Amino acid sequence: MFDFARRGAAAVAAVLLGMVWIPGPGGGRGDGVGGGDGLGRLAAPAAEAQAARPFVMPFASPPGPDTWLMGQPYGNTTGAYRQRRTTYGAGQGIHFGVDLSAPCGTEVVASADGVVFASDAMSFGSAPHNLMVDHPDLGYATFYGHLLERPDWRPGDVVARGQVVALSGDPAGTCNGRPHLHYEIRDLRHVRKYNPVVLVEADWDSLALIGPFGRAFQRDLDDPRKWQHLDDQPESVIGGPLLNDFARPWPPDSR
Ligand SMILES: [Zn+2]
Repeated sequence: MFDFARRGAAAVAAVLLGMVWIPGPGGGRGDGVGGGDGLGRLAAPAAEAQAARPFVMPFASPPGPDTWLMGQPYGNTTGAYRQRRTTYGAGQGIHFGVDLSAPCGTEVVASADGVVFASDAMSFGSAPHNLMVDHPDLGYATFYGHLLERPDWRPGDVVARGQVVALSGDPAGTCNGRPHLHYEIRDLRHVRKYNPVVLVEADWDSLALIGPFGRAFQRDLDDPRKWQHLDDQPESVIGGPLLNDFARPWPPDSR
């Protein structure tokens, strides 16, 4: 599908230069600019994409080595597989969010207009601090984890798409462990978790080329093409059975 040899280097360069970054409001792109027929036609696909993927990335800055990169995708990753009975057991064994590597203190923005549901509700996980924002109009909630400090919000506070709502941190709390934002999209009951790739407007293919520290997805050798792509990953329900307890896994189960 993707010709890495021909397009890979160009895509990486484009990401590094910020050329493929799709900013949120205030990020530089005018809404409905122009109005001529040519611009109108060009704008149409973007509008359709926005309707299909209603969220913006939770960082206002463009991706890059000095800002943020994708650390671990959502889904059936090898890392989550290895921790399917521990860290990720409650989420059916898959990585039920996307990790965005970023220095501590990077500003985190709301992915859409919303209402704060909870700040530092640790039953949602992702210590040391977290934030859950509901988006009733969209039927989803977004969750921001491993934050640097307790977000200064109360339940019911209204936040706007693109507004700074928190600062990213490090699960170790040291800022030199593996600082990253763990970002989830859930339903409004906060139990079902969705793949951000299909709901957040971003150039995920380019992000995947340079970002992930663990790009591979765990294989089920009885169905080796299952869940091997960024945009083909299962939903996860809290408390549901493991999805990836494969009889014939690859890489092999180390335990
Ligand atoms: Zn994570």
